[in-house]
Amino acid sequence: MGENVKVIVRCRPMNRKEIDNKSDSIVEIGDYVVSVVNPLARTAPRKSFTFDSVYNGLSKTETIYNDMCYSLVESTLEGYNGTIFAYGQTGCGKTHTMQGEGYSDTAENNGIIQRCFDHIFETISIATSVRFLALVSYLEIYNENIRDLLSANEPNSIRNHPLKDVPGVGVTVPTLTTQAVMNAIDCYNWLSVGNKNRITGATLMNEKSSRSHTIFTISLEQIQESAAAPTNLSSDQTIGGIRRGKLNLVDLAGSERQSKTGAFGDRLKEATKINLSLSALGNVISALVDGKTKHVPYRDSKLTRLLQDSLGGNTKTLMVACISPADSNYDETLSTLRYACRAK
Ligand code: ADP
Ligand code: MG
Repeated sequence: MGENVKVIVRCRPMNRKEIDNKSDSIVEIGDYVVSVVNPLARTAPRKSFTFDSVYNGLSKTETIYNDMCYSLVESTLEGYNGTIFAYGQTGCGKTHTMQGEGYSDTAENNGIIQRCFDHIFETISIATSVRFLALVSYLEIYNENIRDLLSANEPNSIRNHPLKDVPGVGVTVPTLTTQAVMNAIDCYNWLSVGNKNRITGATLMNEKSSRSHTIFTISLEQIQESAAAPTNLSSDQTIGGIRRGKLNLVDLAGSERQSKTGAFGDRLKEATKINLSLSALGNVISALVDGKTKHVPYRDSKLTRLLQDSLGGNTKTLMVACISPADSNYDETLSTLRYACRAK
């Protein structure tokens, strides 16, 4: 397995509905292993899957951050690109993991995203002899269209921002809003602005479930301030003394199959596109991890095109696969574990 691609599983606790329905827990979290019992064939052998780390319903986002995200974010501060994804069925904890439940300095429920903000700006505040410029952008991929979540007048302006392939630079979205940020609070405020602009649609599974993928990106440029010879400018992202790294924080749309959500019409169309991006992402990651495949199919979806410069090579990737412990979600849990397993 490529050291640069890590896949972990987080199983959330039973929710109120599952407890009220007297659901059984069919998921067992061991050391690095998730085992699942088939609720219709309880005596059959369990299906087991191994990951870089696995977390149960008592695990804290803080622990996940320290174990798995810290070094990834450190490397973006050193000028490399990195991506953190949350994958899984709607209602299994993607947004909880990425965004937590609000933001405060002390809240143990801060998500990975807020922890990244804190981490980055703590590092910047104590950095000597380098100056940092931090920019954020926030976009949504909905029906394979790119929407700018930070643009005030987006609903009336560009509905599908074009991607541009710039030789030597990579795939960019030239019309996307970028905002300079000075501290973690600035970042959080832009995250909140973007969240208000996010498209959500009602499904049977989760009223506010988002049918879109979102990418919050923090770009970091650092300039050596002293005239002294730069010490550690070995990163291949260093151009003209400016070192660039970026961190993509991705909350993927629900991975559930449309049959379970009772989708039809527009909802079904959405589901097809969501599945297209998710399967393209799975194919890219498994090609990267495999290492032997020469062709990495980045071009198959907007999501993978956008993230092309942040997946593979010397970038770092973390996928957090979120699952439910309940027997009623057996099929989806199994399909999430299979997807995640293929990604590593
Ligand atoms: P998703 O984004 O995957 O659709 P959410 O993150 O919105 O799912 O989670 C659904 C619900 O479950 C939310 O109310 C959330 O607070 C709760 N939840 C998810 N994961 C956890 C967890 N690890 N611990 C406690 N509550 C959780
Ligand atoms: Mg969500």
